[in-house]
Amino acid sequence: MSFNRIKDQHVAIKLLRGIVCADRVPSGLLFCGPYGVGKRATALEFAKAVNCRDSKDDACDECLSCRKTMHGNHADVIVVRPVSKSRVIKVENIEDVIERTMFRPFEGGRRVCVIEDADRMNEAAQNHFLKTLEEPPSQTVFVLLTEWPRLLLPTIRSRCQSIRFGALKLGTVADIIIRENEFTEEQAYAIAALSRGSISRARDLVKKERRAVVLDMVHRLALGEDPLLVSEAFAAHIQDTEKAIEQAVKKEARQEADNDPAGESGPDTEAIESLVAGLVRGELFEYLVLFDAWYRDELVFGVSRDTQLVYNRDYLQKFKTDINVDKHAAKLDGIRETWKYIERNLNSQRVFRDLFFLLAS
Ligand SMILES: [Zn+2]
Repeated sequence: MSFNRIKDQHVAIKLLRGIVCADRVPSGLLFCGPYGVGKRATALEFAKAVNCRDSKDDACDECLSCRKTMHGNHADVIVVRPVSKSRVIKVENIEDVIERTMFRPFEGGRRVCVIEDADRMNEAAQNHFLKTLEEPPSQTVFVLLTEWPRLLLPTIRSRCQSIRFGALKLGTVADIIIRENEFTEEQAYAIAALSRGSISRARDLVKKERRAVVLDMVHRLALGEDPLLVSEAFAAHIQDTEKAIEQAVKKEARQEADNDPAGESGPDTEAIESLVAGLVRGELFEYLVLFDAWYRDELVFGVSRDTQLVYNRDYLQKFKTDINVDKHAAKLDGIRETWKYIERNLNSQRVFRDLFFLLAS
């Protein structure tokens, strides 16, 4: 197992093996790449490997150190992640970690501090962390995981060795989906193609009803239903989603306030609103990805008749076969425009209504 269990990240693993083997471990590593491709799993394998007593450039999974890391009770392997729904890593969280690195590693090896979603460190946290990187504690390596390295201070990035992670292969994602669900190969490959190489997104597609909603809208438009009615149905669905998100965020904010009776302020309404808006926007983007995939598929299939090029291959029988290439290209442009409007915070109900009129044409 060990590094071998990480799929499709050969370049990253080769670099990490080299680092462990030469015993030249930098004080900062920056794992960059899309979410759901194995950054966290690799960080834990790396933590095992640097401290493994029996293997030179990997983890044996047998020795005491490896076992402790696997069970999450190795005293020198620290994992920090944004805890609350606000998903911010605050300066206090970083101070806690730094404090724990003041001593020599308890188990005599190397201390590994993994910071998940490192871009979620707020400015104060990043500045505090930067000071530590400038004078790093001995025998300690910080492993920062991020999908958005540009949100980190350039001075943090330059002090870390970057390791890039890419999308997973179609077959890798499909195999995992088949193993976890009772899916046919066709369904699993469709989900894998739509996931764009992220197992987390693929699991999300399996779990949530997003895809069913998009397929429903697309079919209703194809059957000639009034786009106004279709857009109203979509808006109602988005409103429900927004309500659910808002409730979840508020619940978590209340819990956070209860756990922190010393905190002088109650839940910050403005912060909650902006967080909800951000999460809803993220949902809308995921929908647009699915709309884009559908019309892209109809266009690609209409032109090539090659099922291998199609993402939604489990819905081939629903494809329009008599497509107008120019019109379909305009639909795809319209989806991209909608993306930009959502990014600019325009009224989503209106921009989706306009989009549905275009898609119906
Ligand atoms: Zn070991």
